[in-house]
Amino acid sequence: MHDAIVVGAGPVGNYIAYRLAKFGYKVLVLERRPKVGETACCTGIIGKECFNRFPIVNNGVLTEHSSAKFFSPSGKCLRLSKDTVQACVVDRPVFDRALAQKAQEEGTEYLFSARVKDISLRNNCVKAKVERKGETTDFEGRMAVISSGFGPALPQRLGLGKIPDFVLGAQAEVKVRDLEEVEVYFGQGIAPGFFGWLVPTSNGEALAGLLSRRSPGSYLKNLLDSLLARGKITPNETRIVYGGIPLKPLTRTYTERVIVVGDAAGQVKPTTGGGIYYGLLCADIAAEVIHDAIIADDLSAKRLARYERGWKEKLSKELEIGYWARKTYERLNDRQIENVFDIIKENNIHESILQSPDFSFDWHGHSILRALKNEPLAKIFSR
Ligand SMILES: Cc1cc2nc3c(=O)[nH]c(=O)nc-3n(C[C@H](O)[C@H](O)[C@H](O)COP(=O)(O)OP(=O)(O)OC[C@H]3O[C@@H](n4cnc5c(N)ncnc54)[C@H](O)[C@@H]3O)c2cc1C
Repeated sequence: MHDAIVVGAGPVGNYIAYRLAKFGYKVLVLERRPKVGETACCTGIIGKECFNRFPIVNNGVLTEHSSAKFFSPSGKCLRLSKDTVQACVVDRPVFDRALAQKAQEEGTEYLFSARVKDISLRNNCVKAKVERKGETTDFEGRMAVISSGFGPALPQRLGLGKIPDFVLGAQAEVKVRDLEEVEVYFGQGIAPGFFGWLVPTSNGEALAGLLSRRSPGSYLKNLLDSLLARGKITPNETRIVYGGIPLKPLTRTYTERVIVVGDAAGQVKPTTGGGIYYGLLCADIAAEVIHDAIIADDLSAKRLARYERGWKEKLSKELEIGYWARKTYERLNDRQIENVFDIIKENNIHESILQSPDFSFDWHGHSILRALKNEPLAKIFSR
């Protein structure tokens, strides 16, 4: 029997598998795809803080960024720039594969094309029902980590509910001319309630994408047409890929012998939809709690509740402020968004945020609260 069964070989599953295997546990990762990182729909932007905190994930870096341009619905530009690198863009398949390799080097076993259909509790273990090549097999573990990304199936089957709010993302690889900085586009006609992006990845290539609650593919086609018309991208065949992004966490992320982590638990920045760093932070907390629980031979829900207390202590405030800002932004019309840009520019709010000691690519709560000290801005956001 394995000590831990990890469902999903995304960054979070690979990382927690690595941590648990390094403690000396027998770990099995079950991944429904035939390979690691095969179909990840992700832009791969990761803050520098994440690489400093988790040197082991420093793989597959394509570009580094210290600035970004933000465009209002009418095309006004706000450029935010620091003199040090703030974030990197990684090649997600390479990033994921490198992490899986580290987990394998610590002894983790991987089984691919293995879709977990169900996790159920037994007396002294969990049973994972796995569909593989048309056959169903059961695997037993002392406990299970659900790191299966966005999608309610497994947590819901365990009575942990489902993600209360989410958004859809659409993205395509494009060819660009002279694009060096990340560009972000706002406007209800571009990406209603959210934003679109153009992110340089490697020589002459970029990822164009957006988030939207409805028809992300149609909005992305419009964005691509507009980028083409403005000469930002060059004509090319594009394939649009889609993914869901949780905006709020599961209300409960553990039960007896089971922990839910990463996108599956909704541990994602609600402001941007970035989930890699927060997922890794929570995986770290989960690994420590699991280690202590196995040593104490106590994998009860009461014991594993420490995991949820730990990650909530770290992220709750940030998630709450971010979600509030996200929902408030969703209600603004284009005129109000223009107004926000004007107020920020006229009052140099972006500069004061960038210069403040609490500015962070990954933690937005302080910056949001700082911006709202400006009365006209606070007024728009309190309507
Ligand atoms: C368009 C878009 C752009 C994004 N850009 C960024 C970004 O720039 N930066 C950032 O930080 N985040 C970004 N994200 C979010 C990021 O992709 C996720 O937060 C991250 O992938 C979560 O990692 P994870 O390991 O929790 O889940 P995932 O990466 O989704 O991995 C889950 C794994 O579980 C497997 N799986 C699922 N169900 C089962 C099952 N039943 N049995 C076996 N295996 C299963 C899947 O095949 C997958 O391999 C973006 C998301 C989208 C949609």
